[in-house]
Amino acid sequence: MGSQAANLPPHVLIFPLPVQGHVNSMLRLAELLCLAKLHVTFIVSDFCHDRLLKHTNVESRFVCYPGFSFQTISDGLPEDHPRAGEGIPDIMPALKRVTAPLFKQMMIEKRCFASSTRRAITCIIADGVLSFTTEFAQENGIALVYFRTASAAAFWAIFCMPELIEAREIPLKGNGMDLMVKSVPGMENLIRRRDLPGFCRVDDLNETTFQRMKNDTRQCPRAQALILNTFEDLEGPTLSHIRKHLPRLYTIGPNHFHLTSKLAATTKTENSISSGSLWEEDRSCLAWLDSQPTKSVIYASFGSITVVTREQFMEFWYGLVNSGKKFLWVIRPDSIMGEGNGSRTVPDELQTGTKERGYMVSWAPQEEVLNHSSIGGFLTHSGWNSTLESMVAGVPMICWPYFADQMINSRFVSEVWKIGLDMKDTCDRVIVEKMVRELMDERKDEFLKRADDMAKLAREAVDEGGSSYTNLDSLVDYIKSMVL
Ligand code: UDP
Repeated sequence: MGSQAANLPPHVLIFPLPVQGHVNSMLRLAELLCLAKLHVTFIVSDFCHDRLLKHTNVESRFVCYPGFSFQTISDGLPEDHPRAGEGIPDIMPALKRVTAPLFKQMMIEKRCFASSTRRAITCIIADGVLSFTTEFAQENGIALVYFRTASAAAFWAIFCMPELIEAREIPLKGNGMDLMVKSVPGMENLIRRRDLPGFCRVDDLNETTFQRMKNDTRQCPRAQALILNTFEDLEGPTLSHIRKHLPRLYTIGPNHFHLTSKLAATTKTENSISSGSLWEEDRSCLAWLDSQPTKSVIYASFGSITVVTREQFMEFWYGLVNSGKKFLWVIRPDSIMGEGNGSRTVPDELQTGTKERGYMVSWAPQEEVLNHSSIGGFLTHSGWNSTLESMVAGVPMICWPYFADQMINSRFVSEVWKIGLDMKDTCDRVIVEKMVRELMDERKDEFLKRADDMAKLAREAVDEGGSSYTNLDSLVDYIKSMVL
């Protein structure tokens, strides 16, 4: 390397799984590293890239970081594939079949993205579920760091899958769901089998996913380090178990707020909420929220992947209307199973209640919504990004987990952090109504107080001197040490 190149900053390659929650979270990490003056190449699927360009300010946002660039790659799926709900199991096999060889070819042909102004990649930060990046990093002697977008609790439970299998606690096949789990150290007497990540339910998802999750997670120590989007005050006991296997563990979350806070400290304040939305946000709901009283509205959204049956959809609709509360509900056009992008007709008996109290959008600016003063509760699928966004905003939750890590996140929300209620494995209008009232009326003060305390801890973690703030600095130093 010439003497000029030797002065160039480290060059990090970031590669997320191409779905909303992962792209969002890792794009924020990319910006945090850009702010630390590292060079970053972000590999994303053509599909996600097109949507980012269409629906976000990503281009203008990153223009001020000359060391940043996008690279796009095929996700191996046809253009019209749903990439949600029932289509989710197609994603990993397509990535393995099509994207993995393309990735290797691209890295070699482009000599790992070296130029006169950038070094060749010095460190790969890969989504922990993309194991083909591990092979490439190892074969080519490039440092590898994993980023797992789930909670520490979910990561640790998945890490313990071999012990759970050995003890015959999983695979779950529908019985013994309320027995307490014994083989996840630190979680004895805390989680039931039904709270284990959805991959343990082999009835729901296929055997291949079960095996893949078990193997990929157990192999995480092959990476030099692990980054988790969580913070020490939230998941300290679980993190100390993980550190016994992965001592170089950086907790830098909640990373959406970490970024907001870092941007606010620079001159880029006008952009302080960073959206990585793959759908067009309907901002009209913010004006509707402006006209509602403080903490009066329940926000309902099940993220980017969840699909519900028509029956479940109707149970939620009745439950929300019958609760008597105002509600803002995100209904993605593809969110009802088997109905494509069909139209939504309002049943007669829901007409009045919906008109008087409801506002529906197909995609919301969620962070802004959660931080709006009129929001008093969040009916969520317990995706990890949504959970953290709600925590930072101090909004209590009703959890209806759909799959994967959401099952354990909702348990922690209700039983450990006590900032919400867990509605797992039921979908009944009476329970929806009852829980909305419990959260927003009967136990409102108690939930708001705890959610507020949690918000303070989350914010402190990313303040100067906080655990996530310090860990991000250490991560940047570690990445720099790789080129010394
Ligand atoms: N989101 C959004 N608008 C919506 C619904 C979701 O911006 O109407 C964002 C949300 O803020 C979060 C992400 O989409 O950052 C969803 O990620 P999460 O991990 O919660 O769930 P997933 O979609 O991966 O199931």
